[in-house]
Amino acid sequence: MRPRRRPLLPALAGLWLGAVAAIAQGSDVAPDRIYVNARVWTGESSKREAEAFAVRGDRFVAVGAPDAMRALAGPSTQVVDLGGRRVVPGFNDAHWHLPARKDARLDNAGSVEVIQKRLEHYAATLPADAWVTGRGWMPPDFPENTAHRRYLDEVFPDRPVVIRDRDGHQALANTAALRLARVTRDSPDPADGIIVRDASGEPTGLLKEAATGLVRDLLPPLAVEDTYQLLLGEVSAAASLGLTSLQDATEGGLTDNERAAVTRAIAEGRLPVRYRSAVPFDETPSRRQLKRQVGECAAARGSLHACGFAKLILDGTVDARTAVMLEPYVGGGNGVAFLPQQQLDRVVAAYDRAGLQVEIHAIGDGAIRMALDAFERAARSNGTRGRRHRIEHIEVPALVDLPRFRELGVVASTQAIFATPDASTLQNYAPLIGPERASRAQPFRLFDDAGAVQAFGSDYPVYPMDPLLGIYTAVTRQTTAGAPAGGWYPQNRVDVEAALSHYTRDAAYAEFEESTKGTIAPGKYADFAVLSRDILAIPPPELLETRVLLTVMGGRETYRAAAAQ
Ligand SMILES: [Zn+2]
Repeated sequence: MRPRRRPLLPALAGLWLGAVAAIAQGSDVAPDRIYVNARVWTGESSKREAEAFAVRGDRFVAVGAPDAMRALAGPSTQVVDLGGRRVVPGFNDAHWHLPARKDARLDNAGSVEVIQKRLEHYAATLPADAWVTGRGWMPPDFPENTAHRRYLDEVFPDRPVVIRDRDGHQALANTAALRLARVTRDSPDPADGIIVRDASGEPTGLLKEAATGLVRDLLPPLAVEDTYQLLLGEVSAAASLGLTSLQDATEGGLTDNERAAVTRAIAEGRLPVRYRSAVPFDETPSRRQLKRQVGECAAARGSLHACGFAKLILDGTVDARTAVMLEPYVGGGNGVAFLPQQQLDRVVAAYDRAGLQVEIHAIGDGAIRMALDAFERAARSNGTRGRRHRIEHIEVPALVDLPRFRELGVVASTQAIFATPDASTLQNYAPLIGPERASRAQPFRLFDDAGAVQAFGSDYPVYPMDPLLGIYTAVTRQTTAGAPAGGWYPQNRVDVEAALSHYTRDAAYAEFEESTKGTIAPGKYADFAVLSRDILAIPPPELLETRVLLTVMGGRETYRAAAAQ
């Protein structure tokens, strides 16, 4: 079930030599480039380390010793000396989102002053009357953990401002924005949402869940060109972090503008990543609709924009007490599944029958069990195998459910950086579930021990997309400041090599592409990153100082650090 046990083409040492011999036969098939003097982590279980590799067109054609590679060179082959640097397969973010708009980033602001400064700085780049939007704040950024519109009014008395919290479940609007949205003390709470009010009944500007739409629905849609520029900015940022594949987990897939932007970027040669997005999700899909989606995804296979899965969201988050737990939260209350089990079973079975993969967002142990049950029933009633259905986040699984991932062939799609023990994790998340459940929260090691295929992602823009930051968190379970000493529930740490596999080979498996990418092996796409330090040899804190020097996707350079020129 695990990709490393699958007999992939280049998995045997003999075949590696075979590939070398085949290439050496004629100079017209000489490599375009030979990379030597490298420490290559291939990701292949049979031949984990190499010193050199050769690339022709968009593929690796040989991997091995420097002399063997040099012997392949033709008259026009370029030899690149990598100066002893660590080379890894291009990172693959298995759970990423294209942001709907460009926002001021408020992550780790820590104070109202910093939030105000970042918003002012961002606002200065916009037309004078444009909405100012931001995301990434957390309650502890505000005095007494209480966000209030007065902090936004101080710097933006007339211009509308709305900023979302990190998880996107609440938003803070200033007075100008509330006025445009006609939200007053007399406005009723919308269904599934709360307009937070002060003691006198006045809205404080804080809007929860569906109430955020009262203001956010007023934001003007991005123009086609703006969407294109947004996409280019995001994917070039990804390339600068060593990413060569992005799996967009947005429920419903891309909007028309976003799809057009991806298509245009490919046509103009400006998409530096392999992109995968969801098909539009429908709770009651028709056979015709499914057939069309399957056909479209089959036709797109092998292009830079793939599809082939449907995404649905089954529960909320622990922090908002909307994740569905088997037992109530400490202090009471529980989330309610967004789909009852029977309906979930029906829709999962419909996609499964059509041949589409299903990704289910499930965070609490209750929702995770519902998702596993639905996958098990679909496979049984449809007689299907190898669908590689996925559960996204899987933050607090029940221990007894862990073996089911391997048994059912369900991919564990986790986000390493979710284990960051920051203020909200320690002061809100952990107390809400109590110590026993916290001890099995974000249990990366337990998934590995249970033999599950585990794919890492970031959930960008909820968290930064930097894979090296994700690897740091997976191997330390500490904040970037190194707290707490020893790590948060350190028994759930994994080592750098496991984290690398989850960010490369296993993420490729999660999208059915392990035969074309995810390791450095002959025949696979030449997707790789060159790092400033050897992450397999340095102490974990140095992961935070490690930079990507060069990113190559399909044999094409997609990023080069200034210092590496
Ligand atoms: Zn997500």
